[in-house]
Amino acid sequence: MSTPRRASKARESMAARSARCGAMLGRLRELNPAPTTELEYSNPFELLVAVVLSAQATDVGVNKATRKLFPVANTPARIAALGEHGLKRYINTIGLFNAKAKNVIALCRQLLERHSGEVPRDRASLEALPGVGRKTANVVLNTAFGEPTVAVDTHIFRVARRLGFSRGRTPLAVEQDLLKVVPDEFLRDAHHWLILHGRYTCKARKPDCPKCPVADLCPYRQKTRAD
Ligand code: SF4
Repeated sequence: MSTPRRASKARESMAARSARCGAMLGRLRELNPAPTTELEYSNPFELLVAVVLSAQATDVGVNKATRKLFPVANTPARIAALGEHGLKRYINTIGLFNAKAKNVIALCRQLLERHSGEVPRDRASLEALPGVGRKTANVVLNTAFGEPTVAVDTHIFRVARRLGFSRGRTPLAVEQDLLKVVPDEFLRDAHHWLILHGRYTCKARKPDCPKCPVADLCPYRQKTRAD
C-alpha cells in the first residue's frame, strides 16, 4: 500500500484523499481502538430514546436524565404508560423537552403498533418514527446494529470540511462524500472517531492543532499555534 502524501495545496485525487483519510483514521484508531457513543444505553431502544433526546443538548445532560428514566421505564410500553406529563418529569432538564416528550411518546406508540415494540433495523422505518431524522437513524443503525453509516452532526460536518474530505454544504452532502472517502475498514467506527476528534481536539472555535495527532495530514489553513 502506498504511503499517503502529506496534505498539500495541489488538487488531490480521490484515491489520495481516501489514503489520507485512512491514515488519519488509523491514527485515531491507535489512540482509541474501540470508540463508541458517550450516550449511556444498554439496548437499541434506550439508544434510540437517548439520541432523540440529545438533539441540541449535550450527551452529559441526556445521561443525567436517562439515568433516572431508564431504571423506571426502558421499554416502549413503559414509557408510553408514563404519558407525556409523566415523561416530562424525567427529562425537563433537557432543552426542548416539551416537544421531545411528545415525540418520544408518539414514537413508543408507533413501535408498539407497527414493530411489536422492537426498534426496526431499516432506515425507512426508523425515519418514519416521530422525532427521528436521517442523523438519528444513522446513529442507531451504526451504533446499535453495526451498520457502516456516518451520522453527520455539527462536529463531523466541521471536521470533514477542515480536513478536506468534503466541501459539502449540507449534512447529507458531507455524509455522501465521507462514504466515498472513508476506506471500508474504517467505515463502521468512523462516525465515533470523527465526532470525538471534533469534540475534544478539532473544536469549533479554537481547534487544538498543536496537540492534534493528525495535524500533518490536515490541510486546514487556519491551524492554531501553541501559545
Ligand atoms: S490540525 Fe487543527 S484543524 Fe486540522 S484536524 Fe487537527 S485540530 Fe483540526
